Amino acid sequence: MADKESDLGLTVKKDQDFSEWYHQLLAKADVLDQRYPLQGFPAYGRFGFPAHDRIIKILEDLLDASGHEKCYFPLLVPESLMSKEKQHIRGFEKEVFWVTHGGLEKLNERLAIRPTSEMPMYETIRNWIRSYNDLPLKIYQSCTVYRYETKHTRPLLRGREILWNEAHTSHATREEAAAQIVEGVRIYKELFRRICIPSLFLNVLDVFAGAEEAIEPYGIYPDGRGLEIGSVNNLGQRFAKALDVKFKKEDGTDDYAYQTCYGISMRLLATVISVHGDDHGMVLPPEIAPVQAVIVPIVFKGKEKEVLDACQKVEKQLRDAGVRVRLDDSANTAGYKFNHWELRGVPVRIEIGPRDLEKSSFTLVKRTGGKKSAKLADVVKEVTKAFGEIFSEMSVKAEAYQKARIRDAATITAIKEFLDTGFARIAWCGKLECAQKLEKNVEAGLLGHEYEAPVPHGKKCIICDSAAKHYGYVGRTY
Ligand SMILES: [Zn+2]
Repeated sequence: MADKESDLGLTVKKDQDFSEWYHQLLAKADVLDQRYPLQGFPAYGRFGFPAHDRIIKILEDLLDASGHEKCYFPLLVPESLMSKEKQHIRGFEKEVFWVTHGGLEKLNERLAIRPTSEMPMYETIRNWIRSYNDLPLKIYQSCTVYRYETKHTRPLLRGREILWNEAHTSHATREEAAAQIVEGVRIYKELFRRICIPSLFLNVLDVFAGAEEAIEPYGIYPDGRGLEIGSVNNLGQRFAKALDVKFKKEDGTDDYAYQTCYGISMRLLATVISVHGDDHGMVLPPEIAPVQAVIVPIVFKGKEKEVLDACQKVEKQLRDAGVRVRLDDSANTAGYKFNHWELRGVPVRIEIGPRDLEKSSFTLVKRTGGKKSAKLADVVKEVTKAFGEIFSEMSVKAEAYQKARIRDAATITAIKEFLDTGFARIAWCGKLECAQKLEKNVEAGLLGHEYEAPVPHGKKCIICDSAAKHYGYVGRTY
């Protein structure tokens, strides 16, 4: 990483070839390094992992604030446990990595490396839950899960080692579990708002293995393709019955817990990068940027010391104010430094040169555009204000981005036309057979209908012409 050539910048424009742009950006901006000799297992770099980690931290804070508790459960799952819920194991059987040996010894029982953590979690919490007084139980963990992806792997979007956060809840009644789904979606929507990505939540047709109902947020990428970037699942009592997660009710009788689970992965970072990045590199919301402000001294002969002193003073002030700041006092040229930090998505650049100092000023440049001169005495205030502006600008951009990628289609021809740039929204009766018919016709999936969307009153299903119940979303996916 950080080869000299990486600082030559991107050689392709985002609009021309999104896929190439994306791969170049991830490598050149130190987001991740795919040279590790194992497919689907990239190394995460200095400008990738901290950004992902901050997204997860925001989520953890939201989960904590809504009564979830942080825990950790084992990575390995005995095959006998993994097989307890039939639909679950069937859904994952092609994707599980198995551990068969411990050192030179062949193990008596194969061990699954968790593709998700329902089994180790529920096997454990059934001992934590005795009566209705122990419910609801809302827990989460931030960890890695492993899936032997056979589809084309794509960094951050489809890998074999997944960095994620999974929350699991157990409840005394079906109603409480249903309410928890609403809270799960609300938490994710708030997370998306904070990191400036558009949210499209669908009640999907293709549900998580073992779930009764799934609501999934979708990301739509600049090449028009989409991908689910999380899921919120209502598990009903299926897992509780398979794993004996029982509790005593108020009336003294026994019942199985009603469960939900929801997960979010590093696909969120992929979405932030894809929606906001430009031909110069990443554009990151200040809240998740590993470096929020960079100071670049503009040096002229004879004034070096004066300029550097001023830069160091500003660095200290910003650091004391809690800003993640970097002073780039390397021997590189100012132009080189501008490109280097723009590529890595640093939200604010501060330039200080002799001419600025004559006026006790500095120059502030926002990654989202805009340049101004301000008083050195106000540097903390000005940088903080710029962060707020950048957040607002990125939020507006996210909304516009989404609007441009979802279009209402009333005919098959229109759907096909729209699929090259995004998703088509259609009036749909909600029947599976209409979805299947449509999929054959347009060679793209009817992914589901919009969560909590208004009913399309007076509209007819685009396939069967009966009354439409939902707005369905049709899109190509990775
Ligand atoms: Zn229909």
